[in-house]
Amino acid sequence: MSATDDFLGPVFSQVLLRNPGEEEFHQAVREVLDSLGRVVAKHPHYGDAGLIERLCEPERQIIFRVCWMDDDGQVQINRGFRVQFNSALGPYKGGLRFHPSVNLGIVKFLGFEQVFKNALTGMPIGGGKGGSDFDPKGKSDAEIMRFCQAFVTELSRHIGEYTDVPAGDIGVGQREIGYMFGQYKRMTNRYESGVFTGKGLSWGGSRVRKEATGFGAVYFLAEMLRNRSIDLAGKKAVVSGSGNVALHTMEKLIGLGATVLACSDSSGYVVDEDGIDVELLKEIKERRRGRIEKYVEIKGNGAHFSTSGSLWTVPCDLAIPAATQNELTGKDARSLVENGVLAVVEGANMPCTPEAVRMFQEAGILFGPGKASNAGGVATSALEMQQNASRDSWTFEQTEERLAEIMKDIHDHCAQTADEYGLPGNYVAGANIGGFVRVADAMSALGII
Ligand code: NAP
Repeated sequence: MSATDDFLGPVFSQVLLRNPGEEEFHQAVREVLDSLGRVVAKHPHYGDAGLIERLCEPERQIIFRVCWMDDDGQVQINRGFRVQFNSALGPYKGGLRFHPSVNLGIVKFLGFEQVFKNALTGMPIGGGKGGSDFDPKGKSDAEIMRFCQAFVTELSRHIGEYTDVPAGDIGVGQREIGYMFGQYKRMTNRYESGVFTGKGLSWGGSRVRKEATGFGAVYFLAEMLRNRSIDLAGKKAVVSGSGNVALHTMEKLIGLGATVLACSDSSGYVVDEDGIDVELLKEIKERRRGRIEKYVEIKGNGAHFSTSGSLWTVPCDLAIPAATQNELTGKDARSLVENGVLAVVEGANMPCTPEAVRMFQEAGILFGPGKASNAGGVATSALEMQQNASRDSWTFEQTEERLAEIMKDIHDHCAQTADEYGLPGNYVAGANIGGFVRVADAMSALGII
C-alpha cells in the first residue's frame, strides 16, 4: 500500500476484520487506499482524527425483509438493502440494484465507490446505494409493481429529498422508479419529486437522465483521446452489456463516428462487423425486454451470436465494459492489449479486475476508472434534483451541455490531480485522490460525527 504502508496497512486490516467475506467491498477499499499513500505523505493531517477509518465505515446500513405475492398467489420473500455511506457533501445519493447476486458486500462496494464519484461531480451529494436480491427476469408487470411497492414501504422510512435520494441501477429503470415513487407518494401524501431521480419526463424527470451515464462515459473517453491528439471518429469499439449504460454508450459512440462491433447480455454476445444497429438493439432490449440473440435473428447477414469465449477477444480500438463488476479479467485484458486497444473506459462500476487494470496501466493504455467515467448518470440526477427544487424543466440541449461540461471538469480534475501527485496519465489515482480530498475536507469541517 505504497508510501505510508505502516499507516494504511492497519486501516485495511481493520476493514477486512470488520467486513468478513465481502470481497467486492475489500477490492473497492483497497483500490482507493492504494492511491492515498501519497496524499497522507504530502498532507499528514488527512491521517488524523480517524478520518480514513471513518470513511471506510458506512454511516448507516439497513437490511430489511420484503414480502410480496406472486401471480400464483404464493408469498415470496426477498431481502432489501440500503447503505447510507457518507453524507458529508449532501444527502446520500446512489442507485438501487435488483439482481439475484445482490448482498450486503455488493451494496457496500457500490456505496463506497459512489462517495468518491459523487464528490468528483462537484455537486452537493453524498454517497449511498441499495437494492434487493429480487430477480426481475421473467416477472410480470404486476409482480414488478407489487415488489416495488413492498420494497418502498420499508425503504420510505429512510429516504427523503434532504436525507437520501435513490435512483436506478441494474434491473431498475424508469418503470420501477415509477412504481416506487407512486407508493412513496401514496404513503406520504406528498408530491416530493426530489426523493427519487430517474423519473419519467411527465412526472418530474429530467431530459438526458436516461442517456447520461452512457453519454457521459463517451465524453470522458473523448477527452482522454483528445489529450493524446487521437480522434474518436473512425475507431472500432466493443461495449459489454446491452442495458441502460451500454445502449447509450453505443448511441453516442456511433453519433461521434465510431463503429460498435460487439455487445452482450448475460446469455452471450453478438458480433456485427457492419456495426451494431443500436435502434434495433433498443427495440429488442428496451421495448420487448428480450434476449440479445434476437438481434441476430432479425438482423441476419453478417451478425453472429456466441455463448462461448469472450467478447473481449474481438479486436477493437476502444473497449467499454458496461455490464457488471469484475466482468473483464486479466485474460481479457491480455487479449485487448495484444489486439492493440487504445483506450478502456469503465461504463459499469468496477468491471475490470485489479489484474486487468494493472495490465492496461503497464501497457500504457488509456484507462478511465468508473468512479470518474460513469459519473455522468449521478451528475444528471443532481441536475434532476435542481430542476425539481426550482420546479423547472430544462431542454435536452441545455441539459446535455451541462453534462458535457461536468464530464470535462471531472476529466480535467482527475488529470490535474494525477499530475500534482507525480502520476501523470494515471486516472485511477487522479479520481481516487480528487474524490477523497473533497470528501475528507468536508468531513474535517463537520467535526467528529
Ligand atoms: P441494466 O440496464 O440492468 O443493464 C445491465 C446489463 O448488464 C444487461 O445487459 C445485463 O444482461 C448485463 N449483466 C448484468 N449482470 C450481468 C452478469 N452477471 N454477467 C453478464 N452480464 C450481466 O443496468 P445498467 O443501469 O446499464 O448498469 C450497468 C452497470 O453500470 C452497472 O455496473 C451499474 O452499477 C453501472 N452504472 C449504472 C448507472 C446508471 O445510471 N444506470 C450509473 C453508473 C453506473 P441481462 O439483461 O442478461 O441481465
